[in-house]
Amino acid sequence: MVDGVRRGLTVFERLFMFVLLLLASQAALAHAEQSPPIAERYCHQVTPIGAVAGPAWNCQGRPSGHEDRRLWLSAAPVAEELGMEGATLLVHQSRFQGLTVLFGYADGRIVRHAVRAGDYGSYWRVGGQVAFSAPQREAALTSVTLGVDRLADYQLLRTRLLPAGAAARDAALAASLIGGALTLLALSSAYNLLLARASRQRFVVWHAAWVASVLIWGLLWSQLALIAFPGLAGTTASRLCTLLATLAIAFAATCAATCPEAGTVPRWLQRLVLALGWGVAAVGVPLAFGPPIVIDLLGPVSSVLVLAVLAAVALLIGLAWRRGSREARSFFLAWAVPMVVLGATQLFDMGTSLFGGGPQIAVLFASAMQTVWISVATTLNLARFRAERDAARAAQAELRELAQRDPLTGLLNRRGFVERAEKALARLAKRDGAFALLLIDVDHFKAINDRFGHEAGDGVLQRLASRLDELAGAGFHAARLGGEEFALGATGLSHADLPELAERVRTCLGALSLADLIGESTRLSVSIGVAEAAPGSTFQSLYRRADEALYAAKNAGRNRVAHAPPMTPTRLGESRMKAA
Ligand code: GH3
Ligand code: MG
Ligand code: MG
Repeated sequence: MVDGVRRGLTVFERLFMFVLLLLASQAALAHAEQSPPIAERYCHQVTPIGAVAGPAWNCQGRPSGHEDRRLWLSAAPVAEELGMEGATLLVHQSRFQGLTVLFGYADGRIVRHAVRAGDYGSYWRVGGQVAFSAPQREAALTSVTLGVDRLADYQLLRTRLLPAGAAARDAALAASLIGGALTLLALSSAYNLLLARASRQRFVVWHAAWVASVLIWGLLWSQLALIAFPGLAGTTASRLCTLLATLAIAFAATCAATCPEAGTVPRWLQRLVLALGWGVAAVGVPLAFGPPIVIDLLGPVSSVLVLAVLAAVALLIGLAWRRGSREARSFFLAWAVPMVVLGATQLFDMGTSLFGGGPQIAVLFASAMQTVWISVATTLNLARFRAERDAARAAQAELRELAQRDPLTGLLNRRGFVERAEKALARLAKRDGAFALLLIDVDHFKAINDRFGHEAGDGVLQRLASRLDELAGAGFHAARLGGEEFALGATGLSHADLPELAERVRTCLGALSLADLIGESTRLSVSIGVAEAAPGSTFQSLYRRADEALYAAKNAGRNRVAHAPPMTPTRLGESRMKAA
């Protein structure tokens, strides 16, 4: 079972890697197919807010001084790239106050669209984009012009101009992929919260916090949250995204720092990971809410910090894994991909690849895969713990049973017999019932040992034991209390039936065929002492009375049954006093 689970894990690991490779190759293909972003062909000029663009377009370098004003961008689309079906301009969510889009046609007609932060109307698309369509007309589309009010960062403004069909296909694909990833994150977020409650492990709580923050980030970034909160559109959502993204890194770093078992990593490394992780979160606050100049200054700082966290976490987890931490292994396998993806987004510009989703869709996907991975791995781990626990319990039960058995005859030993007899007596004390003890001792057994040897004596004891076991049906317990002394505990037998039972045991044991062990001429007999329990009697008192009866049977000439006198209330009191 345990091996089965281990095999299951590696099969799962392979499957997981396969899916990731598939996704990575898809992403690479999508990246390769991408046409140069239209932003590279924009001419620009900056005017006061509300003003119209003048004829003085600058087609060189980057615009500047636009943060508090209106930035105009204009490009002439290439007709062959757009085909005959109309075009769609996709603008990626960014921080601006307002956006006006003008499509100019050869006949002089202009189609105008406009959105404002907090009001994207019906222009938003899942995947963090705003879509403006330039309808197909007789006259050709000759210019695409954007007027962006108070744009925070020109470098973060990403636009694509696509044939309408391609844009619709991209949007549908992005929506279904993002929907799938967010659903996985939502499920795993609920699962992880439950797991955090059940497992009471600190790192699971941090993991749950990480999943929850990525989920909310994903809802905001993809703009799905706009269904419920349309007022978040634009700047607010974008600020919250920055904050959540840095918080998520802090949560993940804390999860990594608290995951390895105590003593598997040096304290200083744990502290370093925590400091760097929460350092990212600290930089996230001014990045999210600060003015554009702060964003320009802190952007590179946050990138360096993120890369430093990744390196420190990789070192910590690698070290813990090498030192035998089981959690670290799961953690490493689960986080390797999201960490590489996050690192890659800091080092390379993924632009508008992956259906326009760029780095965000990559991170979202890697995160969804990671949470699925960790959920399955945790479930498999739990299954393994369960299997191990069941095996340990079975072994324990077997040991317990062994400890109550006599090795020579396989009957219950004194310990096992006393335990069962005491249970029967406890039941008797609670309600009416009956329990009787028969002590059976072989007569002159020493002589058998002396004449035929110890081994033959052992054989006789074994044969007696198996016959006694046959005689003891349901409700009876047969035991070897020691040496050549046996016992039979009889539950639920009436006072009147006891003599007959004892007599039957005596004759049956006496009639055993033992010729092969001790010859034809030697006869074996047993003496039996019987005592009946009264409500409230202890095993010791019952045993003492049965032993006295056995002594009486021996004294009366052996090979017979003797009954202890029944317990009267005064005798019961006396025996209790003796026991005390
Ligand atoms: P009595 O009729 O008075 O009971 O006589 P007895 O010889 O049966 O009683 P006694 O207590 O003097 O001797 C019991 C003998 O049982 C002594 C011992 O060597 C033998 N015995 C005890 N345990 C074992 C055992 O495990 N195997 C064998 N073969 N003999 C045993
Ligand atoms: Mg004996
Ligand atoms: Mg004896």
